[in-house]
Amino acid sequence: MIELHSDTVTRPTAGMLAAMAAAEVGDEQDREDPTTNELQRRMAELLGHEAALFLPTATMANQVALRALSRPGCKVVAEERTHVLIYEWGGPAIHSGLVMHGLVAEAGRLTPEQIEAVDELGPGGVVVLENTHRSSGGHVWPLDDFGAAVAATRERGAAVHLDGARLFNAAVAAGEPVSAWSSLTDTVTICFSKGLGCPFGAVLAGPAETIEHAWEGKFLLGGALRQSGIAAAAMLYALDHHVERLAEDHARAKRLTEGIGLDPATVETNFVSIRDDPGVREGLAERGVRVGGLRPGWLRAVTHLDIDDDDIDAAIPAMQEVLSVHA
Ligand SMILES: *Cc1c(COP(=O)(O)O)cnc(C)c1O
Repeated sequence: MIELHSDTVTRPTAGMLAAMAAAEVGDEQDREDPTTNELQRRMAELLGHEAALFLPTATMANQVALRALSRPGCKVVAEERTHVLIYEWGGPAIHSGLVMHGLVAEAGRLTPEQIEAVDELGPGGVVVLENTHRSSGGHVWPLDDFGAAVAATRERGAAVHLDGARLFNAAVAAGEPVSAWSSLTDTVTICFSKGLGCPFGAVLAGPAETIEHAWEGKFLLGGALRQSGIAAAAMLYALDHHVERLAEDHARAKRLTEGIGLDPATVETNFVSIRDDPGVREGLAERGVRVGGLRPGWLRAVTHLDIDDDDIDAAIPAMQEVLSVHA
């Protein structure tokens, strides 16, 4: 089976497993895991923030960020199909007592006008910006537009959180450092179990004081580990070996798009959007290609570390066949 349904399916490489096996470790709950501390130091620097915190998942990173930035009863505002609003089991409402307010936006990009027009948004509220935006098909948020959304949020007195689960994809695609986006926002989440190819792991970065609050939230949710350096070693390995190569995933996604007769200009990172016509998903599965759901009416084919050129060469004819039958 050619697994194009998600970039979460990657297995740790031999090099990553060796780094994990060799990790120097300590008790993370006492903040004595040296590899975790090194990851946090390096990520704070890369993301342009004072401090950073390791978390087992990006879901937990988003949740502890919201808890640290907000007050119960206030709003979390985000594009209606962002991860934080629809894939985290109501976490903002449950963990932080927030009112969840979704807005419809082209390519997942909230505009300053939309943020200006939200009612009941102010201090204690948070606007979440997602880059790349998953549900629109991995689109990159251009820096100028992104900066304008951040400025409009600050104008309202609310905080800004960047869900940058795939921010490295955005950075590689745009030829900018991750900090170009992340240094503008109060906090930022990075996920290491997507394109970066780790079994799990995430980082939250922000001001030192906010990250102290986030540490409490991490404990509260049961996310303070012991020898977390095993995971942090995989994450450090990914920073050194799996960032630049994201360009290969993007090139393969473009080649796949062209190969099946769609417009490659629609593909900015590692997601290919395909219409979810009846029978398409099943037809592809019968021919050995597994695709995933993107949003209602749309499927996605996602390239990643475990997809090579041969997989793309094999997927193209299978997809051509199925898409022409079901067009
Ligand atoms: C996958 C994802 C997350 C959550 O990541 P986990 O580490 O699996 O919890 C958060 N936000 C976005 C945009 C994602 O794609």
